[in-house]
Amino acid sequence: MLIIGLDGATFDVLHPMIAEDRMPNLKRAMQDGAWGILRSTTPPITPAAWTTFLTGKQPGSHGIIDFERYDVHTNKLSFNNTHRLSQLRNIWQILGDRGLRVGSVNVPMTWPPIPVNGFVVTGFDTPSVRSGFAYPTDLEAEILKRWSDPILGTNWRRRALGGNRLFASNIDYMCRSFHQGAEMTIWLADRFGWDATMVVMKLVDNLQHKTWKYLDPRWADRNPRRSEMAKRGFTECDKAVGTLLDYARKHDATVLIVSDHGHGSLEGKCNPICCCSSGVIYIFKTARRRSERGYATSGIASAGKRENSNAPATLLTT
Ligand SMILES: [Zn+2]
Repeated sequence: MLIIGLDGATFDVLHPMIAEDRMPNLKRAMQDGAWGILRSTTPPITPAAWTTFLTGKQPGSHGIIDFERYDVHTNKLSFNNTHRLSQLRNIWQILGDRGLRVGSVNVPMTWPPIPVNGFVVTGFDTPSVRSGFAYPTDLEAEILKRWSDPILGTNWRRRALGGNRLFASNIDYMCRSFHQGAEMTIWLADRFGWDATMVVMKLVDNLQHKTWKYLDPRWADRNPRRSEMAKRGFTECDKAVGTLLDYARKHDATVLIVSDHGHGSLEGKCNPICCCSSGVIYIFKTARRRSERGYATSGIASAGKRENSNAPATLLTT
């Protein structure tokens, strides 16, 4: 099984992109598989939702309910990560215990990397590439030879009078991140072998945060140049998804494409619960040869409604 995470992806954006023929690979995946809109976790935010995906537990149980947590001993906020979850087991450990080869690339909240029966490259929550970002650790040097920013630590850069040039440069960084995620996943999967592997395109979320007003049809025509640049970000994301879908097809693998929450504008004030609570998407596409086998799916996926499908009606659970 190949799992492709598109952080914060919502059909509010994807449907118009598909209608404009900017995301043909996603369109094809939806036509060939089952898709729907699911409910996110409470709260519907990245650290809570991906940790639920990984552990099958609600935020109240796994304890990751925000990006940071208050430490009563130091009177400071510290970043949450799975370091806090040493008493919980995640999907990679469970599958690994059954002898399955697993892989995880840029999945949020997976730092520090835990030993698994396969490979892990942590994501944006990694303090730095000097903090340990891969398992096995000897992978780090090889990864850095190929990709200088494997954890995607560069944020949206702001500079006075940066204008369209800086805007375009930020979009380029995001586009490169999508292709890097696909290339790194395939490189590692080929090297280690895999039964279940996952990559999250984290910067889909950032792309929407930074360009929402250029994507929203109510305002997009005010700055068509930036609107076009923002939409190119989704086209490049779709190409990276296409690369992964081709790879999955080559290996006759089942594919899950999932998001963690919905999205909305961050211009001015907003109610994140209203924006995000029902925006999780999933697209399920099963390989014919493996369709009769049981695969572990998270509570998120198994709760999905079937809106359009040529695939088997049941999302199987072990
Ligand atoms: Zn997210």
